[in-house]
Formats: sequence, structure tokens, C-alpha cells
Amino acid sequence: MLRTHNCGELRIGDTGKEVTLCGWLQRSRDLGGMTFIDLRDRYGITQLAFNMETNATLCEQARELGREYVLQVTGVVTERSNKNPKMPTGDIEIIAARITVLNKAQTPPFTIEQDTDGGDELRMKYRYLDIRRDMVRRNLELRHQMALETRKYLHEQDFIEVETPVLIKSTPEGARDFVVPSRMHAGQFYALPQSPQTFKQLLMVGGIDRYFQIVKCFRDEDLRADRQPEFTQIDCEMSFVTREDVLETFEGLAKHLFRAIKGVDNIRFDRMSYQDAIKYYGSDKPDTRFGMRFVELDHLVKNKGFKVFDNAELVAGICAGGCGGYSRKQLDELTRWVQRPQIGAKGLVYVKCNADGTYKSSADKFFDQDALKSWTAAFDAKPGDLLLIIAGEAAGTRNALGELRLEMGNRLGLRDPKSFACLWVTDFPLLEWDEETQRFYAMHHPFTSPVKEDMQLLDTEPGEVRANAYDMVINGVEIGGGSIRIFDRPLQEKMFEVLGFTPAEAQSQFGFLMNAFQYGAPPHGGVAFGFDRWCALFGGSETIRDYIAFPKNNAGRDVMIDSPSPISADQLKELHLKNI
Ligand code: ASP
Repeated sequence: MLRTHNCGELRIGDTGKEVTLCGWLQRSRDLGGMTFIDLRDRYGITQLAFNMETNATLCEQARELGREYVLQVTGVVTERSNKNPKMPTGDIEIIAARITVLNKAQTPPFTIEQDTDGGDELRMKYRYLDIRRDMVRRNLELRHQMALETRKYLHEQDFIEVETPVLIKSTPEGARDFVVPSRMHAGQFYALPQSPQTFKQLLMVGGIDRYFQIVKCFRDEDLRADRQPEFTQIDCEMSFVTREDVLETFEGLAKHLFRAIKGVDNIRFDRMSYQDAIKYYGSDKPDTRFGMRFVELDHLVKNKGFKVFDNAELVAGICAGGCGGYSRKQLDELTRWVQRPQIGAKGLVYVKCNADGTYKSSADKFFDQDALKSWTAAFDAKPGDLLLIIAGEAAGTRNALGELRLEMGNRLGLRDPKSFACLWVTDFPLLEWDEETQRFYAMHHPFTSPVKEDMQLLDTEPGEVRANAYDMVINGVEIGGGSIRIFDRPLQEKMFEVLGFTPAEAQSQFGFLMNAFQYGAPPHGGVAFGFDRWCALFGGSETIRDYIAFPKNNAGRDVMIDSPSPISADQLKELHLKNI
């Protein structure tokens, strides 16, 4: 080793030792008689001291060194006269006797400090410098710990990690595939996996029983903030299990990670049906750190002459505790907020519950005090509370009210990043109707089993069939999802038929799986978690990019290596692609 210690480990007890450290020059201070250098590596920062009186040559040499120079320094650990209690190594410094410049460095394009002056794009372009910053390094360490603890837990539960291929076959279901042209097979393409779904099911047919993989997945989806075209899943599958077994096993994983990573021991998982999630929270991933559940008011408010309510498919609201004192200005601002195109409500009706037991509403003209009182009773509202009511087409109203609920949760400080509310959402619809293409799509994926009781509806009312599927939701973030699978050929064929595949199409695209089902497929089910997202949640950030060593930007580009990029005419020719 070029060093005896790292830059984070020396303490007062090491005083007197001769040590050699290696690292980067974080900062130097020339105080005339003395020069100080902060030397940084992954483990911390140690102060080096150079004394003009005792070693003028070395001190002068030290003054010449620039930021981010890579140094090897030998010297004696000495107690500092001016201690820094904020640094773990703050009690000591190294009185340097020898310096070797291992490598010079150009002045970095931004400061490598907690509060850097570099903007997003600049830091992405020089990501290797960004990674030197504490924050990014800590995020990568957290990610490593998460992966390690995941492996530990799943290994304990008899799961084995099996790799599945990255060059697979393109299928039209799900998101758009990234494809890779084949050189050896003119005009043919591999696809990168959107997930190892069919392979993990084939591993169950292969008798692997319990599989997992921390695995890269690829989806060529439209750009959205904080979407990465490649991302990582904790992908899992189990044989001979019911839904309950799967939920219990992975609640176990979540609890293990909470304990090991966050030091949190009292995690409880709630259950909620998809139908209730939509009805009471307007979202299939409700943030249940706080209540503010929707109350539907149709039976109380309709046919009283107020057109906005009379013409609405749904009238529903939330009760914002303690907001009864909102000013006209605040209410107008909130109304404009729900009317923004992203939220899409037509307007907002409010009822203030005054301290004196009276009510003040924007719909006063149509509703007297008794009527308003009956509404507030439905919400169980108290004096000082504020009812916020939206009316319109049902799905849009729930959606807008769901957004408003989250916004009020933010404004009232009810979404504390340090508290955690965990939830399984179950009983999703199996299918989703798409108006544009006039066909059903699998809400989860085509391999998801319908719930037994609904099986007979597949022929008559496919839209009503519930899936044996579940999502894990933490603090309103969908952390993972999975299902109990179809494992027999006839039902899988039926599913493809409902999805509008001809038998020939189903056979050519998924014949390998349906064939396998004929050779003794065990009942099985599983789940996959968004690993990047889970890291971000535990790290207290909303940006998954911060937890990926080399992420792509919001336009799907890697600005550091400049990718995607054109390829040469020779390459194109070899790949049987016309010159683009
Ligand atoms: N493969 C699914 C997905 O990527 C998860 C699962 O059903 O296990 O969403």
C-alpha cells in the first residue's frame, strides 16, 4: 500500500506515530509562518501542517500545490493546538516531513464541497469529480448497504441470486423496448429486458423455488423528470406460495432494511384495496402518513339548485384541519392552484368552520347554515377547520382532490420524511381499457393471475376482473409491485385472447413460456422493487439520480461520455442498417 492509514482514521491516541497518507488536496491555507493542507479521501479529511521555520523547503513546496492534486504525505501525528470538534480527525494534524505529488490536477470546474457552485449539467459532465463530494459518496455507500442487506435477508430466506440474460427478445407488451441490432443475423434484433419477468417464471418451472436478482432493467419510455432509461430492480420470485406468503416474505425484507439501514424497528404494514385507495385518496399509491381522507357528498349536496354540484358525477372533499382561518387571498390562491392544467379541477368550493359555530362558504347562496352543518358532520370537522370540495367527472375529481390532499399535507407539515407509513395496495383491476386503441391492456402485465372469484368474469365482463396483484407503497411512493402468476397454458392463452392477440401471435411471442407451462410449472408469484427509488426514499431525497453513480440526464443522455452518439458507416453496414 502507498499509505499506512486513510484520511479518516487518525485520532489523539495515534499521537507520535509516523504515518503515510494518500489523498486529494481539498484546500490549503497559507498563514505566512505555517501552511495547512486538508487532505481528503473516501474516509475523511486530515490536516497536514508545514512549518516555515523548521522546514522551509517543504513548506514552500506545499504552497505550490493546487486543488485536487493527488498527494502522498509522510509525517508524525501531532496533537493540534487549535482543535476542530466538527471533524473526527479534528484533534490531530500531521507535521509533514515528506510530500510526493502522485499526480497533478487541473483546477476543477466546480468546488468539491458540500455546497458546490456547480450546476446540474456541469456536475453530470464531470461526474467523477462530483462523486468525490461527500454527499454523492454517502449516497453510493447507502446504496451498497441496501444491496448488501437485501442479499443477506434473501439469502437467509433461501433465495438464490440467478443472472438472467440482457440480450433478449422484443415483445410488444409493456413499455417500448431498447433494441440491439444483430450483426450475425441480418435484419434481426435483440431487445434489452424491461424486467426479467418471463425468465424468473421459467426459473420457477426449472425448480429454483426462490429466486432473486439485483438487476438492470431498460425501458424506452417518454421523458419525465426523474426517470432513467436504465434502472435497477430487486427482482424476486417464489414457488408454491399464496399471495399472503409473498406479502409476508417481502414485508420481512422491508422491515429488515428499515432496521439495518434506518435503525427503525416499529414498522407496520397496512393493507388497502385499490378500490379504497382511489375512493379515499384518489391515488393507487396513497401517502398514509396523514389522514385527510376523501368524503363524498353527493347525497347531501345534489338537487339544491347549485349547478356545479348538480351536473357533477362526483362531489367530494377533504377537511384541512386548522385551516379555517385562511384568508380570501389564500383561498383564491388555492383555487388557482387546483385550476392549473396539471391538476385540472374547474374550481374549488370551501366551507370555513368558524370558531363561533357558524359556517362561511363560497356556495352560501345555495346552502344555508343547516346544510353546511350537515356537510361538516360528514367530515367530522371541528371549529377552525376548512372543507375543500371539488366537483366534476369522477376520475378527474378524485385525481385533483388527491393532488390537493398532498399539497395540503405539505403545507401543514404532515409529510415528515423521517416518519414512514407502509402499505400494500391489493386487488388491482386485471385490465385497463384503452380508448385510443380500443382494446384492453394488462394493468400489471399479461402473466398476472386473476383472483379466483372473478375468473368466470373473464368472458363476460373482463373490465371487472380483479388481479391477484399487489404494490408496496411507502410514504406515497410505489416501491414495488408484483403478483401471483398464471401457471397453466389454457388460462395464459385466454389472457392473451382477452388482450387481443391471435393464437398465432401469442404463440410466436410467448410460446416459449406457454410451452414451459406444459412441463409441470409450479404455482408461483413474486414481486420487483425499484431499487434506485428505495435508496432515494431511505436517503431522504426524491431524486433517484442522486443514488446512481453515472445517471443519464432528463433527456436520457449521458453527458459525460456523450451518449447516445452516432456510429461509423462501417459499423452501420456491418449491422445491416442503412446509413442514417
Ligand atoms: N416484472 C414486474 C415489473 O417489472 C414485477 C413483477 O411482477 O414481479 O413490474
